[in-house]
Amino acid sequence: MASDHKKPDEKLDQILSDWTDPPNVDDIIAQQLKPLKCISKYFPNWIVKTSPQFSVDLSKYNVQWAAGCIELNTDPAEIIIVKNTFMEERKKANNKYKLMSWVIVELTRKGYLVLISDIFDTCEQCNLVIVSKERMAQHSYSFSGKCQSCHKYDPTKPL
Ligand SMILES: [Zn+2]
Repeated sequence: MASDHKKPDEKLDQILSDWTDPPNVDDIIAQQLKPLKCISKYFPNWIVKTSPQFSVDLSKYNVQWAAGCIELNTDPAEIIIVKNTFMEERKKANNKYKLMSWVIVELTRKGYLVLISDIFDTCEQCNLVIVSKERMAQHSYSFSGKCQSCHKYDPTKPL
């Protein structure tokens, strides 16, 4: 069991505000918590939104996700959009995201898909995953906040 020799919560909040590893990371991983439980305990405010699947705009990703789940012998569960996955940092040796790496692997094995909010958002009407406003702006596309099912646009017809 983890020791309780210090007043944990305040200190922990401070340490975990950037979602880096708490000091007892190996003990936590060894406990084999459920990944969602681990997130609520150790990564407060990391999850931005959740969604059941990609919208019609990104339907090919639903196919890829399903194919990945078949390989892992699981079913698609849910899409979790987080602030950052620190992917580059996590590739480095002795990085401070050991617990986050473990959580992402566990989620993936259970059929979850973790995306970052810089690139993905959800439709304000149906809550399915769309491309984020920031990403659309990078490509000079306008952003309706909705998927194409909820915000129909047909370029072949006059307005
Ligand atoms: Zn929609």
